[in-house]
Amino acid sequence: MAKSSRLPGFFRRTPQERRREVQAFADLTDEEIAALDSGGLTLEQADRMIENVIGLHALPLGIATNFQVNGRDRLVPMVIEEPSVVAGLSYAARLVREGGGFHATADPPEMIGQMQVLDLPDPAAARQRLLAAKEELLQLAHTADPVLMGLGGGSRDLMVRHIPSSPVGPMLVVHLAYDVRDAMGANAVNTAAEALAPRVETISGGRVGLRILTNLADRRLARAWGVVPKEALGLEGLSPDEGVQRILEAYAFAACDPYRAATHNKGIMNGVDAVALATGNDWRAIEAGAHAYAATRDRGGYGSLTTWERDADGNLIGSIELPIAAGIVGGATRVHPAARVALKILGVRTAAELAEVLASVGLAQNLAAIRALAMEGIQRGHMKLHARQVAMAAGATGDLVPRVAERLVAEGQVRLDRAQAILAELRGEAR
Ligand code: NAD
Repeated sequence: MAKSSRLPGFFRRTPQERRREVQAFADLTDEEIAALDSGGLTLEQADRMIENVIGLHALPLGIATNFQVNGRDRLVPMVIEEPSVVAGLSYAARLVREGGGFHATADPPEMIGQMQVLDLPDPAAARQRLLAAKEELLQLAHTADPVLMGLGGGSRDLMVRHIPSSPVGPMLVVHLAYDVRDAMGANAVNTAAEALAPRVETISGGRVGLRILTNLADRRLARAWGVVPKEALGLEGLSPDEGVQRILEAYAFAACDPYRAATHNKGIMNGVDAVALATGNDWRAIEAGAHAYAATRDRGGYGSLTTWERDADGNLIGSIELPIAAGIVGGATRVHPAARVALKILGVRTAAELAEVLASVGLAQNLAAIRALAMEGIQRGHMKLHARQVAMAAGATGDLVPRVAERLVAEGQVRLDRAQAILAELRGEAR
């Protein structure tokens, strides 16, 4: 029987109880569960990952529940320091689940490698010569990674852009589209671009400067959409139609104003980054791609990555489209023990499936944020959880954390100075 990601009461359990539920859901071994302690990374492993290592830095790993993507239930691992993101995502996934879950698709995993060609006496003619040699160049890049070639990846297309004026004069930019299969693909694409560069110089008569992938991976888009039945939004004293309307109004703000869109998209990336981090992916690459895409997708300038509409029955329908350069092999995905476990919990079999989940997470996180903002206000939703963090920052431990947090929320003043004062008062009473 297919397992359900709907785990009622999960948030009330202890971390040990939750581990047992996740272990059963994802068939994790005891060793894999043990890897969740402090990320399972040793100092020696860390020392091989980056330079000048002196320690390990831990972050909370949480599980978002209720996800159903293309008919399959998934538990979503998230690594994040910010309160209310995991809870918000689980809540939003439940709302979309009531409307049939997320429907998601991903483009083939094609990354783009760029080559900058300088010192060209006749850029227009050089461009034509490069285009005429397209098949030869594609073949050359294709053989640069025999592993990828064997897996059905490799060269897909070659484009040549002419930039007529720049601070150093005209240049050509050669784009190599390269299928990286289940990898994020930065190293694979960079290697292919390097392999191509000498031949590009000979054909163009110019000099190749930079050879590097672009994070604006717009040939590798992922999309997700889902419906929230309007009845699920009849909350907080609002009718279902009013609930839908509040969300449409919040979306309209982001659709028309880059100041709001930046924050709106940040909320989307709260979820996407947390899952990327949990699975050992380069979240900065995904961030860069998302914001660049939000700024270049249409001529209107920087805008929302999501769209929210009312369908013919008055229900809320949301969609998202963004580049997702994420892998299940390469980089840290297989090196980091906890990242391997996170991928197993997620149960994705290809990079495309991971991209579909990440797009769904982005859409759900956006719904959680705009629903909370439009219907509850940030104070009630986020601040309740934020108050716990402020209480801990003030030095509260044990049962003093919830007591201080409750007072902060009740007073409507979630500030460090108030937390310190309340803590001193409570400690005084205890004495
Ligand atoms: P990688 O080089 O570690 O792994 C990819 C390689 O694994 C492929 O080239 C292939 O030879 C092999 N492979 C085996 N099985 C495969 C399969 N099923 N599908 C695809 N490849 C398979 O990693 P990568 O994904 O090329 O690069 C990712 C890393 O590059 C990340 O750590 C990222 O931080 C880093 N990086 C990023 C940027 C950037 O975003 N601008 C630039 C440089 C490096």
